[in-house]
Amino acid sequence: MLKKFLNFITFIDLPIRKKFTLFFFGVLFWFVIMFIISVAANMKINSSTNSIVNQFIPHERVAHKITRNLQDLGIHISEISAITDITALNQKVDTSRAILSDIRSFASVLAHGGQMHDVNRNSNQVIESITISPMKDSRATEKYTNALGVLVGNLDTKLSEIADLKITSLKSTSNDTARLMEKVKDFKQAIGEAGSLTEVYSANIAKWYKTYSGKITDVTSLTFYIWGSVLLIATSLLIVFTISISKAIAKPVQSITEQIRALSEGEVDLTKKIDISSKDEIGTLSEDFNILMDEIQDLSTFKKVIEEDDSLEDIYSRLGKTFSEKIGLDEFIIYEVSNSQNKMKPVYPIILNDKELLCNEDIIHNCDLCKVKKTGHIISSIEYPNVCRQFNTSLEKEHVCIPMIVGGRTGGVVQFLLKKANYMIDRKDKRMFKAEQYIRESLSVIEAKRLTHTLKESALKDSLTGLYNRRFLQEYTETLVAGVLRREKTVGLMMCDLDFFKQVNDLYGHNVGDNVLKETSEIIRKCVRSSDLVIRFGGEEFLVLMLDINAGETSKVAEKIRETIENTKIKVSDGVIKKTISIGVSEFPVDAESFWQAIKFADVSLYRAKETGRNKVVRFTSDMWTEKEF
Ligand code: GH3
Ligand code: MG
Ligand code: MG
Repeated sequence: MLKKFLNFITFIDLPIRKKFTLFFFGVLFWFVIMFIISVAANMKINSSTNSIVNQFIPHERVAHKITRNLQDLGIHISEISAITDITALNQKVDTSRAILSDIRSFASVLAHGGQMHDVNRNSNQVIESITISPMKDSRATEKYTNALGVLVGNLDTKLSEIADLKITSLKSTSNDTARLMEKVKDFKQAIGEAGSLTEVYSANIAKWYKTYSGKITDVTSLTFYIWGSVLLIATSLLIVFTISISKAIAKPVQSITEQIRALSEGEVDLTKKIDISSKDEIGTLSEDFNILMDEIQDLSTFKKVIEEDDSLEDIYSRLGKTFSEKIGLDEFIIYEVSNSQNKMKPVYPIILNDKELLCNEDIIHNCDLCKVKKTGHIISSIEYPNVCRQFNTSLEKEHVCIPMIVGGRTGGVVQFLLKKANYMIDRKDKRMFKAEQYIRESLSVIEAKRLTHTLKESALKDSLTGLYNRRFLQEYTETLVAGVLRREKTVGLMMCDLDFFKQVNDLYGHNVGDNVLKETSEIIRKCVRSSDLVIRFGGEEFLVLMLDINAGETSKVAEKIRETIENTKIKVSDGVIKKTISIGVSEFPVDAESFWQAIKFADVSLYRAKETGRNKVVRFTSDMWTEKEF
């Protein structure tokens, strides 16, 4: 669950580009949030500051001025009783009226807003101009200014009464000082009332001021907390994102790099896999890399296995099984090419009849007809329809033929067949690519095996006649004898020696002698079954081993050989010659206890044939060997 959440917030499974785009928008989101918070806080602080600057401070100032004017008024009123002439009285009364008018206008500005000018009454100079915005919540102001208005009205009336009383007292000598004093006292009381009203109003303003400055502090600290939290969340997310991204990118890239380095140094552990922690490009890269490693491992295992295979047949069949079981290419034929004989033969799957081939069967006997063999290039009918004329087009199939280049020449061909279902067969069919890799991997092994095979052949075969030599006999006797004894069968042995062969050499030369030997070996080979073994035993001596023959039949075959040679005309430069052959026959285990003894007995019989006139077959009889020991 947590992992899922983490994967979600770190965009781990998204493509890298998307990941960083989202990362960008994520950062932008937090910036926007911070910006919004800042703007909101700023607006809040601004409006509070505005209220303080445009409302509270000016209101407070005006209230202060009202208080001061009330105090001035009090002083002026107190001075009235001491005045002795009318002019001075009128002056005082005017000043007091002016003060009252100021107070009234101040009160009006407080109630409705606007600009007020505090003017020095003596010099007529403006002391201070204050611009006032009306209070937002104007009820208290309204109450105050209304009450103040009433009081100022009263004061005005009271001032007139005091003035009248004083004028009367100045004109008539009747001095009603006590009444005047009472009026002044009453006036001062009203001033006091207005003063305390103003004080209350001031106190109210102070309270509001406190509330608003408190608001500023609150907003500031709240902003600070929100900023801090946002910063904390954003930073944590950033840390988680950065760590997970760097882990998801750096770790696999590092492992891949290490593996590649190990690969180049040949110390790679192919079973070591890259951890796939994301589904983005890096994840895909890791996955592909793992697949690649698997494939390399499969290939190297395949190579190791075929290196240990005994025969070429095993290798071909393993290669074939890989095509069908691992790669999914079911239809194919592997051909082996013999450049020296200009032949090619299908080796896997085993084809019994040339008619089963998918190409013109002529290629078997003249492999230069095969385009791949001839060019050493891949020939594909998908790339180029009807590319090869030897291919049977009636099959409704596509073919891709891959050469097996061995020792610089085409040593084999693998022909793959693909369904011609549509023409949209993937030109870069991954299976084909894989098949090529396996073929390439097997080439060096095939080359080595073919070389060993040829070497072995040459060591065990006689180069002049192509027959097996004495060494072959020595090497295979044991296996051969064991098989015959196990099957309880007989081996027929014929020791053949041309009669007066020396004369051929002497009369016609060594080359003709060689030719006669070749011709003779060919005749002998044709007279026996292909499973029988014809061995060049000595210069012009041939040993024939007929496996699993019925006892007593060897002489018949020997007679056939003798007769054929006698009747064969061998061409030489100036005409033809005829030769005869003498053959000694023995059978194993009929005549002898050991195989080598049987050979000896055949030789003894041959000797007898020579002695008794040549050109004859002599079957060994026990009387021919009188010695006790062999
Ligand atoms: P016979 O067996 O009837 O008694 O007489 P022969 O003349 O055949 O007997 P011999 O064993 O005296 O001669 C064998 C000759 O075969 C001797 C040798 O010069 C010749 N020879 C052996 N190997 C070769 C070979 O590879 N090529 C050629 N041209 N001659 C060979
Ligand atoms: Mg001879
Ligand atoms: Mg001889």
